Amino acid sequence: MPASAVAIPQSADSSSLRDLLRRHFGFASFRTNQEAVCRAAVDGEDLLLVMPTGSGKSLCYQLPAIARGGTALVVSPLIALIEDQCAKLASLGFKVARIHSGLDRAISRQACVDYLNGSLNFLFIAPERLRVPGFPEMLAKRKPALIAIDEAHCISQWGHDFRPDYRMLGQYLPALRPAPVLALTATATPSVQRDILEQLGLTQARKFIHGFRRSNLAIEVSEVPMPMRGDLICELLQDPARRPAIVYAPARKRAEEIAVQLGQVCRAAAYHAGLPAEIRESVQQKFQSGQLDCVVATIAFGMGIDKADVRTVIHAALPSTLEGYYQEIGRAGRDGLPSSAILIHSWADQRTHDFFLKRDYPPIDDVHKVFNALGADPRSLDEIRASLASSPTTLHIDEETFAKAIEKLFIHGGANVDYNNNATRGATTWTKPYTRQSDYRRNQLELVQKYVDGHQCRMAALVLHFGDLADGKVRCGLCDFCHPTGSSARQRPATRGEIEDMQAILDSLRGIPGKSIGRLLKEVPGDLTRKQLDTYLAALAKAELVSVEDAEWIKEGETILFRRVSLLSNGQEPEAALALQFQLPADMPPAKGSRTARPFSSKGVSRSAAPESEPIQLSAASQQLEQALKAWRTVTAKKLGMPPFIVLFDRTLRAIAHSCPTTPNQLLEVPGMGPAKVEKHGAEILAVCHQASTQS
Ligand code: ADP
Ligand code: MG
Repeated sequence: MPASAVAIPQSADSSSLRDLLRRHFGFASFRTNQEAVCRAAVDGEDLLLVMPTGSGKSLCYQLPAIARGGTALVVSPLIALIEDQCAKLASLGFKVARIHSGLDRAISRQACVDYLNGSLNFLFIAPERLRVPGFPEMLAKRKPALIAIDEAHCISQWGHDFRPDYRMLGQYLPALRPAPVLALTATATPSVQRDILEQLGLTQARKFIHGFRRSNLAIEVSEVPMPMRGDLICELLQDPARRPAIVYAPARKRAEEIAVQLGQVCRAAAYHAGLPAEIRESVQQKFQSGQLDCVVATIAFGMGIDKADVRTVIHAALPSTLEGYYQEIGRAGRDGLPSSAILIHSWADQRTHDFFLKRDYPPIDDVHKVFNALGADPRSLDEIRASLASSPTTLHIDEETFAKAIEKLFIHGGANVDYNNNATRGATTWTKPYTRQSDYRRNQLELVQKYVDGHQCRMAALVLHFGDLADGKVRCGLCDFCHPTGSSARQRPATRGEIEDMQAILDSLRGIPGKSIGRLLKEVPGDLTRKQLDTYLAALAKAELVSVEDAEWIKEGETILFRRVSLLSNGQEPEAALALQFQLPADMPPAKGSRTARPFSSKGVSRSAAPESEPIQLSAASQQLEQALKAWRTVTAKKLGMPPFIVLFDRTLRAIAHSCPTTPNQLLEVPGMGPAKVEKHGAEILAVCHQASTQS
């Protein structure tokens, strides 16, 4: 390690940034987005950076730190991360120090001395250091040139890994200014983003949220009952084009069963934490070198491997977090070639998760009972358990619940347990963090369930989940939602009765900004089940007649999340659904017969009672234009892969032919043409009209 900090260039134009990148970090070029982020940081802007794990966020504070000169203060929540980053930076020749609880006092003291005399490029600290009296004041004596807060989602109590110490960071920042503050994380939902910025007091921060889209990955989510999954996986992976593949199984036993079954169609092996280290090592190596086609693994697999040509990742059950799922599907197609990620699940999966959640987070009343059984004098856990069991009111606390409760109390400070398994009562403050953590776990499961039930492009849903609101508007065109015919799920045409149900849904949404799914279920006539309604909404959303979005609603200070269904402009057409043929999942029993006599047809916008508008009489020239418009519509519909009606209704098309508009404003006045349609197709329609009028 050199004795003094790396000398700093004073200017920071693009070429000098690139020069620094090459000279000090040894990289030939910036990765996507890195340069823009570095530039903003060098310019002294506060920023929030959300990019996937492995995308190179560290460089985004390290390079600006060097470019700005002085010492960068880096806050990082895990000792292992601090050690890892310090070692890397030191090996690059930077002067680095760190302060955390895993180190000798002498080392920490030296770090402070080096910080104060300005000889460091980087000082890494664990957040709890700031609670040490005098430490924040020491830092403020010499202002850092830049402050980086890594894994910034830990600040937010909505984020996973919430760290109370991170929450206090905001109060120390003013004394360390004017340094720019960079908050970095791989995962921040919009509410977590808001929370991070609020907690840190970053009112002017620029947000850089990028890189979550994987454009070569076709995602498919399919409902398949448990007993059929093994066969399906074999059927899929029989195709050599789908290999190499990784199958994620929910438990060790399942991993082994599937691996055995897969062995009939390809070279497969199981990989899980229950196997001896040599076997795991060998499986990993054989997969890496191509001697194995498939690995059936529990979550442990994939961290250490760097195999670019994985064609398929299959989840044989519902994952427990979207973060984990995203990371796992991310192991497919690292080489950029088309790849697929297939998730199979069913209702039973949710029940399994519920079971584990209840086991891992016993009801708080039970935990309270265990807490109350603890005293000031140490008693052995067995004794405490026995005393609980003999009390008539606590009979139902079984051994497993007791063990879990003690563990949770211990983690959250409600119990002190010594090395001999004797426990005393701890602080009463355990309830809050306990509740928060169990709520958080439950919420994670709900998010996964919502994802699989979603009526939305799968990739867009993931991109949105990770906080990229802009990119989240773009459909991928590959997933089972965007491209249902490409998926392996079987479909059948909707019956007339089902199409009428869907029309009833559209009717009930007309003229209002949107409704929750729950309200729709109550209000749409015909006693639809939730499952039916979900299937219909999926079909309506695919046809771009409705949108289904996450929304939140604040009630008595609490944020309530729900899904809002609203009509899109195509859905505004009075008979939008009736004019379409829909595909529904083949395993859904068809709704019976035509339902013309059902109540909904006599209320609201009644189709039969709707006043028929006067049919438009077209001149010969207009008829020609109508034909030209139809030809254009066919081509456009084909291009979009949509039925022609999605582009324009016959009635609207006829009205355009009749009025032959020459400006966008005139086109907008044609009944059936909304701003969205004019925006999308206006120029082309006007061109067709113009051509027709010059020919006639
Ligand atoms: P993150 O913090 O986003 O998860 P890291 O900052 O740890 O990711 O970077 C992941 C890997 O990418 C590291 O090995 C790093 O050296 C490498 N890396 C970062 N930027 C570049 C670059 N411009 N060119 C090549 N490799 C890079
Ligand atoms: Mg990182």
